[in-house]
Amino acid sequence: MGDQLHAGHSWYKSTQDERLFVLMEMRQETDYVVHHRQKILAFFSAMRHFADALTTAGHRVLYLQLDAPDNTQSLTENLNWIVEQTTAKDVHLQQPDEYRVDQQLQQWAETANCAVHWHDSEHFLTQRDVLDRWFSGKSNTIMEHFYRRMRKETGYLMTVDGKPEGGQWNYDKENREKLPRDHDIPQPLCFANDVSVIDTMLERCEVKTMGHAEPRKLIWPVTRSQARELLSFFIENMLIHFGRYQDAMTTDGWSLYHARVSFALNTKMITPREVVDKAIEYWRSHQDTVSLAQIEGFVRQIIGWREYVRAIYWQRMPDYESVNHFNHNRELPDFYWTANTKMACLQHSINQSLDYAYAHHIQRLMVTGNFALLIGAHPDFVDRWYLGIYIDALQWVELPNTRGMSQYADGGVLATKPYISSGSYIQKMSHYCNDCHYQVQRKVGEKACPFNSLYWHFIDRHFDELSRNPRMALITKQWEKRADADKKELIQQANHYLESLEDL
Ligand SMILES: Cc1cc2nc3c(=O)[nH]c(=O)nc-3n(C[C@H](O)[C@H](O)[C@H](O)COP(=O)(O)OP(=O)(O)OC[C@H]3O[C@@H](n4cnc5c(N)ncnc54)[C@H](O)[C@@H]3O)c2cc1C
Ligand code: SF4
Repeated sequence: MGDQLHAGHSWYKSTQDERLFVLMEMRQETDYVVHHRQKILAFFSAMRHFADALTTAGHRVLYLQLDAPDNTQSLTENLNWIVEQTTAKDVHLQQPDEYRVDQQLQQWAETANCAVHWHDSEHFLTQRDVLDRWFSGKSNTIMEHFYRRMRKETGYLMTVDGKPEGGQWNYDKENREKLPRDHDIPQPLCFANDVSVIDTMLERCEVKTMGHAEPRKLIWPVTRSQARELLSFFIENMLIHFGRYQDAMTTDGWSLYHARVSFALNTKMITPREVVDKAIEYWRSHQDTVSLAQIEGFVRQIIGWREYVRAIYWQRMPDYESVNHFNHNRELPDFYWTANTKMACLQHSINQSLDYAYAHHIQRLMVTGNFALLIGAHPDFVDRWYLGIYIDALQWVELPNTRGMSQYADGGVLATKPYISSGSYIQKMSHYCNDCHYQVQRKVGEKACPFNSLYWHFIDRHFDELSRNPRMALITKQWEKRADADKKELIQQANHYLESLEDL
């Protein structure tokens, strides 16, 4: 599969002639959601390079292209066909990361005409059931507890006497600044991979995609060496301000000081261990320029958030993919696919998502996700959009982030409060509002920032629940104390916007 490109896996340590490695491009993968064109191009290109590398290393490889005549376009039917053709007695599978594929393979294994052997992907730092093993009996395990345990288990950023480096576990208070207006962000490293052959094939096969692509200049890494180059580029040029500007948003760039290694990681071209090892090694010899707050913030994303959302996914599936705590049911406005909106924050975040198949965490959470939650979009629609549009989107990581963290559809499993904000947060962390058609200070009337009234509309419609949440108590009190006339005006403004979402 395209997310199993782990060259360091023990499978590849020796070349045994009787083994046949199989990689498949399939319609079941291109079509389960409408993907960004760059995403399919990058996955298929990385798979083809991986297959070539295996062949060069002396392995036998069967590569099924999407347009191969014998390709049934289904993983399990292809497996049946291959078992029949090769008379293979044994099939070895790497444990898939997505529940959908896992179920498909488990069911197939029950009736398969061969012995089926399961193998760990040897990629993650934890096992699927880590939450139950570490925190059994506790109904709610917050990420910070998980993260501290991970620090202790791995020894990352720990002193010899078992204390967190610098005396604190988390240095977020020193991070998360707005980007100064005159700040020059280094240009991101972009590759120029020619994937036009794959693009032509997608055209011929009429694969439906979204977003823009330049098939002669695909910017994403498609080989392990490119993935490592991107990682080194990040560590040497971006780590210095990673945490400081992690939450900042600007129209002057599209990835700021972010690593953009999620695609390389999620395809397994690089491992979380090598990412963290390399970053810490660099920090140790550059402490005069890279502060502890920067490296700790980065390590937390990899050994904390990434492993944690995976653990939540496997603990909660399959129910997790249908939770809808607030019973939201609205569709996403069309501008999620066109960026055709007057709201500068959404326009920029969506435009760059269509251009690069990428938006950074705060754009995903506090712009597109925030807006979807405030308008009451159905989490199914929101999930489908995130799962399609981003280069790094695989369900095990997309679903907990979208349904859980961003839409609070799990009722607080992953986040302790809904991530919602009015325009003031976006103004505080971005340069968007200065160039917007709407006025961020205005709550009602012409050109009032839609985030403002929609925010209070959300508070009002979920008031009973939110007032019971200690982290929302202050804000619900504020709403309670407002004059009725004020409240009425805000709700009317929000209703007006909700009725004309496509025009915003
Ligand atoms: C609504 C929503 C949907 C998301 N969908 C995905 C997704 O489909 N795939 C995906 O990999 N990430 C997803 N994320 C998490 C995060 O936004 C991306 O991992 C990150 O933006 C990738 O860019 P980067 O490599 O530049 O990350 P950086 O900001 O540079 O962070 C470094 C790495 O840390 C890891 N990381 C950081 N935050 C998270 C997180 N919350 N969950 C898991 N890993 C994290 C990633 O591997 C990332 O590459 C989503 C977040 C939100 C709010
Ligand atoms: S004014 Fe409102 S809509 Fe416009 S950019 Fe700011 S937050 Fe977004």
